[in-house]
Amino acid sequence: MKSNLPSSVIAMMALLSVSLLAFGQGPTVAYDLVIHGGRVIDPETGLDAIRDIGITGNTIAAVSSEELHGKRILDATGLIVSPGFIDLHQHGQEPEDYRLKAFDGVTSALEMEIGARDVPTYLSERAGGTLINYGATANYDSARATAFHTPVPNGEILPHAGPGTNNPATPEQIQQIESILREQIQAGALGIGMGIQYVPGANRAEVIQIFQLAASYHLPVYTHIRSAGAADPGSIEAVSEVIAAAAVTGAPLHIVHINSSCLKLASLCLQMVAGARARGLDVTTEAYPYVAGMTQINSALFNPGWQEKFGISYHDLALPDTGERLTRERFEQLHADPKPQGVLLFMNDETTVDNDIRNPLVMIASDGERGHPREAGTYCRILARYVREQKSLTLSDAVRKMSLMPAQRLVASTPMGARKGRIQPGADADIIAFDLATVADRSTYSHPVETSTGMKYVFVQGVPIIEDGKLVSNKLPGKPITATQH
Ligand SMILES: [Zn+2]
Repeated sequence: MKSNLPSSVIAMMALLSVSLLAFGQGPTVAYDLVIHGGRVIDPETGLDAIRDIGITGNTIAAVSSEELHGKRILDATGLIVSPGFIDLHQHGQEPEDYRLKAFDGVTSALEMEIGARDVPTYLSERAGGTLINYGATANYDSARATAFHTPVPNGEILPHAGPGTNNPATPEQIQQIESILREQIQAGALGIGMGIQYVPGANRAEVIQIFQLAASYHLPVYTHIRSAGAADPGSIEAVSEVIAAAAVTGAPLHIVHINSSCLKLASLCLQMVAGARARGLDVTTEAYPYVAGMTQINSALFNPGWQEKFGISYHDLALPDTGERLTRERFEQLHADPKPQGVLLFMNDETTVDNDIRNPLVMIASDGERGHPREAGTYCRILARYVREQKSLTLSDAVRKMSLMPAQRLVASTPMGARKGRIQPGADADIIAFDLATVADRSTYSHPVETSTGMKYVFVQGVPIIEDGKLVSNKLPGKPITATQH
């Protein structure tokens, strides 16, 4: 039978079938890069087996039990190979922060709790290249400070305690806050970051209005809730407030650091999150594996009553650089000083934190900023303390909490979330390979910026940024993670 197709098309089809045949035979395809022979963990599919991973460009092209061929082959025999960790709560966003994160296995570090003061500037400053991927929410606290004519100083993200944090906003000020947030969202913000505890003057109606704005863009709200501790109003009232705001507006909700916001009430707060989810609400949460918190000493978090709220006193506050424990006089001096000064708050205990970390609803996020060991050590601490030493988390569950769960949370903001946190064909090649026998955090309260150890390879967008445990020079493959407008 004579074909109606032109001969050139038939020739093309013949060529195509030959190349398809070659593809089926695997070994004749040369990938740009092959990660060979590691124990590959993919929490979504349950894969935990020795595999080769073939990477083409910045994408995982194949995951195979056969040996794959590549232009470059890196041997991962004896190593765990998993999706790179995604930190949804990383305040430090400078090159030095990204370096510390890379050694901790983090391939994407996002500022979601509070957000970027100005998202267009945040994105353009990083357009020349970064070590790892980055992104941010729109900063409600900063927009509110601007509406009160007390803008957040350059280089800082939180307003200092004053009228802009402690007074209710007028309808005109709320309009201005919303218009600033809209500009940020149109520039690619991944949602709205609301540090409600840092602006106690915001009443319940204002909070619902901001959730409404996020919902109108189908974007989530990330929030540091209004209050902490057992006093009423405290953690329970504050979790109720944001779950109610999510329910009545439809905005997806992420409650940051449930460990430090709920303290000893965390298991009850987690039951509230579970209950909201069981009734169909999109509510998620996270924790970091340390007993101390850290924040700015001149913020509204230290408005009168903080001792009763957190159940601590001056002596439980320490300066990160020196370890100096504070007295009342020293606290009052630093609280009144406009100069930003971080302070550690020792307000939790290890048993409570360990329970938070093990809860299946809890993903890991660092709340990283320099001065606290969580900046450099959060992720390897999970592997060392919970997987290897306590054996209280399986390797796959730990990897799930640090990669797949945050990627799934990101899907509410951007389709890019569906390509991250996975070792599957079509996924972004953000991959780490580490030695489970030696991986460990090294940062401490007295030495908070020691890099973690044990990451043999770290790949961002298919590019190795750490090889043989050492930083590769002049590689800046990080890409922005931004929302696309719905
Ligand atoms: Zn916070």
